[in-house]
Amino acid sequence: MAEALTKRSADDLRSPICCILGHVDTGKTKLLDCIRRTNVQEGEAGGITQQIGATYFPMENIRERTKELPEAANMRVPGLLVIDTPGHESFTNLRSRGSGLCDIAILVIDIMHGLEPQTIESINLLRMRKTPFIVALNKVDRLYQWKPRNNAPIRTTLQEQERHTKSEFETRTKQIMVQLQEQSLNSELYWKNKDKRKAVSIIPTSAISGEGIPDLLYLLVLLTQEMMEKKLMYVSEVECTVLEVKVVEGLGTTIDVVLVNGVLHEGDQIVVCGMQGPIVTTIRALLTPHPMKELRVKGSYQHHKELKAAQGIKITAQGLEHAIAGTQLYVVGEDEDVETIKEEAMKDMKSVMGRIDKSGEGVCVQASTLGSLEALLEFLKTPDVNIPVSGISIGPVHKKDIMRASVMLERKKEYATILAFDVKVTPEARELAEELGVKIFTADIIYHLFDQFTAYLKNTREEKRRDTAEEAIFPCILKILPNCVFNKKDPIIVGVVVLDGFAKVGTPICVPSKDGEFIDLGRIASLEINHKVVDVAKKGEEVAMKASSGFTLFSFAHSVVVPQIMGDENQKMFGRHFDYDDLLVSHITRRSIDVLKENYRTELSSEEWKLIMKLKGIFRIL
Ligand code: GDP
Repeated sequence: MAEALTKRSADDLRSPICCILGHVDTGKTKLLDCIRRTNVQEGEAGGITQQIGATYFPMENIRERTKELPEAANMRVPGLLVIDTPGHESFTNLRSRGSGLCDIAILVIDIMHGLEPQTIESINLLRMRKTPFIVALNKVDRLYQWKPRNNAPIRTTLQEQERHTKSEFETRTKQIMVQLQEQSLNSELYWKNKDKRKAVSIIPTSAISGEGIPDLLYLLVLLTQEMMEKKLMYVSEVECTVLEVKVVEGLGTTIDVVLVNGVLHEGDQIVVCGMQGPIVTTIRALLTPHPMKELRVKGSYQHHKELKAAQGIKITAQGLEHAIAGTQLYVVGEDEDVETIKEEAMKDMKSVMGRIDKSGEGVCVQASTLGSLEALLEFLKTPDVNIPVSGISIGPVHKKDIMRASVMLERKKEYATILAFDVKVTPEARELAEELGVKIFTADIIYHLFDQFTAYLKNTREEKRRDTAEEAIFPCILKILPNCVFNKKDPIIVGVVVLDGFAKVGTPICVPSKDGEFIDLGRIASLEINHKVVDVAKKGEEVAMKASSGFTLFSFAHSVVVPQIMGDENQKMFGRHFDYDDLLVSHITRRSIDVLKENYRTELSSEEWKLIMKLKGIFRIL
């Protein structure tokens, strides 16, 4: 059997590796079952092979199943290796030196639901890894009065549908194409798709009736061999990635790997990346499940002396307890130096460590595997998200992780947070977190973690803004309009034009003079534009402004009143202390700049920040 598995094609291409992604309940598992079951039932030649974590479809099999498609003649790859566990985790673990090992992916979308949160997350992941994909528009059998024809090519069965069913199909497909467009993806039904590199191909399918499955198989093969011939060239150098680390009764800790290129032998010395440094060990056994008919022999595996790519394999060896899923497996060749390979093996971990924010300020993130940790880190780094990370870890959240996150309490409280992606939190860790004030957010969708954390950030930010409202001084330069002085002294009421920045109720206003002194006029107590009360007047607007030295934002405020409330003798008067020629500016301070930087950094435009710098000069703030 091993020979059948390792058969090469005439061009010596290896089998492409395919993953299935998509939102929960779209039919990923069912689609995989459907691809497999039809085979088992029909018991045709060149049957599929169950491997570890993957199913192998030899080309004879695919050829047989696509024979009704006129265009399905020229298939040159030896077969197709489909990863059995659908979803993000296996996709993200199929990685090699930071890039994706999955050659092609199927993104499953439910035709009745369109794009859902995990669909978008999958699209983002596929983009990050630059993995080509096709869309299976699944559950077409749920269209009103659909007439199924088992395992038929989709165009044949579409033609047989009533007009209203066809029309519903078209409307829904179009809507989904628009939704994909909103994600900046061009898409097209695959038979209309002229340039498959530029637009994503859509294949309508039903995992219940098997309709569209021939088309799906055909397209997977066609696209991989057309688009990535070079990548699929078989090479003898071992390329192998750890998908899962599992404890198996009787075998101890084993690793499930996907061998993408090269050959593995029993007795090979291997190196894998571990939590506590590189693990150097020797392959004790190379295992695959028994062929279908022998499945009765439950729990036992078939042993191999050697296995050639592409394959899903279980490896037993000593010392694998701390191996990390999602990392590379290296074989130490005869003349190779173990130390160099050890270093190489730890690069995976190092590359991820390199993503930690240099400032040392940020949240802690934790995931179950290196692949998913990396996906989460990549996501957090995207410009729209931009959440700094100060610490990473793999596996369940323990007390030590809480201790590490608590360091942030002193520096930046909101970052004293752990984003836990698809990992458990031990009860002791939760207790300690509560005690210390460390936040833990858990989710099995990256997206949800982001939502939870941003909602939390927003809350704490609003809280902080409320607490520092008196101290936040926004920048403005105002000019008194001719004939618009309505009250000369406290409360001063004048008409002004906003020359720069913006005037906001609560802003302390002063008149700077050339000798570096300034005359404080109090805070803006109210603003009116055309007799309408406003809170803010923007650059260029003309506004009636009342400034009062007794005004504070909150009458109950514990606040520092900047400037201090002035007595009568100190009252500043238009005509005596200042005039039409004088500009009125916000009286900023070192503290007010810091408050703005901390709480309003993104709300102020670069022009407004420039104005702050200019005012800083006027007030000689260091
Ligand atoms: P997953 O979460 O994406 O793996 O989704 P499953 O494969 O578990 O399917 C979710 C539900 O949808 C199950 O009840 C399936 O029977 C059903 N389902 C999946 N594919 C189809 C399909 O093509 N047609 C119909 N009618 N139901 C489907």
